[in-house]
Amino acid sequence: MADIFAPDFRPAPYWWDAAEPAERETALPAEADVAIVGGGYAGLSAALTLRRLGHNAVVLDAERIGWGASSRNGGMVSGGLKVAGGDLDRKFGAEQARAIVGAAAASFPFIEDLIARENIDCDYVRCGRFLPAWTPGHYRALEAKAPKLAEATGMPTAMLPRARQREELGSDYYYGGMTAEATGSLHPGKYARGLADAAARAGATLVGGVRVQTIARHGSGAVIATDKGNVRAGAVLVATNGYSRAPGGAAAMPWLARRLVPVASYIIATEKLDKALIRELFPNHRMIADTKRVLNYFRPSPDGERVLWGGRASFRSGGAAPAEAAPALYKAMTDVFPQIRGVKITHAWTGYVAFTLDGLPHIGEQDGIHFAAGCQGSGVAMASWLGHQSALKIARAANAPFALDVKNFPALPLYDGRPWFLPLVGEYYRLRDRIDRAAA
Ligand SMILES: Cc1cc2nc3c(=O)[nH]c(=O)nc-3n(C[C@H](O)[C@H](O)[C@H](O)COP(=O)(O)OP(=O)(O)OC[C@H]3O[C@@H](n4cnc5c(N)ncnc54)[C@H](O)[C@@H]3O)c2cc1C
Repeated sequence: MADIFAPDFRPAPYWWDAAEPAERETALPAEADVAIVGGGYAGLSAALTLRRLGHNAVVLDAERIGWGASSRNGGMVSGGLKVAGGDLDRKFGAEQARAIVGAAAASFPFIEDLIARENIDCDYVRCGRFLPAWTPGHYRALEAKAPKLAEATGMPTAMLPRARQREELGSDYYYGGMTAEATGSLHPGKYARGLADAAARAGATLVGGVRVQTIARHGSGAVIATDKGNVRAGAVLVATNGYSRAPGGAAAMPWLARRLVPVASYIIATEKLDKALIRELFPNHRMIADTKRVLNYFRPSPDGERVLWGGRASFRSGGAAPAEAAPALYKAMTDVFPQIRGVKITHAWTGYVAFTLDGLPHIGEQDGIHFAAGCQGSGVAMASWLGHQSALKIARAANAPFALDVKNFPALPLYDGRPWFLPLVGEYYRLRDRIDRAAA
């Protein structure tokens, strides 16, 4: 492949150009009502709600606050579509499935309200999403699911046949698709920073550069041992998601790490392109996520000048370097958009998402430690919502049961949080995608 890298290429998130995670506090307090491990959307949202309820909260992150997936993602704000699209009736029965879908869909009005209430400047737009079909069979599956998704989210869905695909996407690559209005877009770096500012303004203490090593019950509270000393807290929330196990193998909450499968996701950003060309590619500025098993997700940048293209470009154990993964993303991008073959990319980056074995996000409490995790790669709204719900639970301020707080959180036997099986599973999914397309 010809050189795809611009001279000013950086293996760092495009979002960090405008909003690199900032240095916050570095001094560790000796005690807090609630200590929160992980300074992403979940931890920050929990801290904000706890402060509003009058509890003092300290957020501890091993890196800078917001450094994890929360400042690296695609910025697609989903209204619970991932959960609602799952096969929940069969797994949980109709009544529980309805409650779960309702709890997930509620993440969307929650984040919209949070952004407005806290006045978070993060380029938020309710733009809707287009899901292009990888095969005619996927189109029919979307068609069957569309009414259910509309009912679950309370917002319209509509089918767009292949002949009209260019109304939503400047490409003939797919077999038509579905639009879903329950989706927004934002600048994830600005949202992470804005949420951190809101939590700090409300009085939360945000400490970066402190890695939690162990959490031990102590009386009715806990002692949190870190590489910078101990913190005593009345309660602890672990919100470490795709980063729950450090590369060396340590985990603040091993029980949680055994229930999460971290998967690397990769994104590239093109150089600035002509705005008219971007409008041709994304006529309605929708967020796009296709129906492949190893999906492509892509969007225009908030300023309408670049294409941001994401996917699971590598399942290699330990992850691939962003620049190594970039050519595969570039090929996928220019297969879909041949109009931009030859453009250069200025950024490539990666981050970890967390999958669960039952396909659901979870909050809960184990051995006296609270946790919030498992957004299946769709956590901008969901992680914010799980953090809020965890805070209500810790403060005993929830006035209704939360359907994503379930006792049963499955673990794989003999799995310790290091997914040795991912390269095999990834290749299997890729093969299934190829077979489906060849048969289309
Ligand atoms: C490339 C990419 C694209 C994505 N695209 C989208 C998208 O378009 N839409 C969407 O909805 N979702 C998307 N996601 C998922 C979304 O970003 C996540 O679900 C969400 O940000 C998770 O937030 P979180 O607060 O749970 O975890 P994170 O933001 O990952 O934060 C976890 C934090 O825990 C810290 N930590 C871990 N262990 C310790 C320890 N022992 N001590 C102290 N700190 C610790 C880490 O340093 C990290 O900062 C994407 C994710 C990635 C990586």
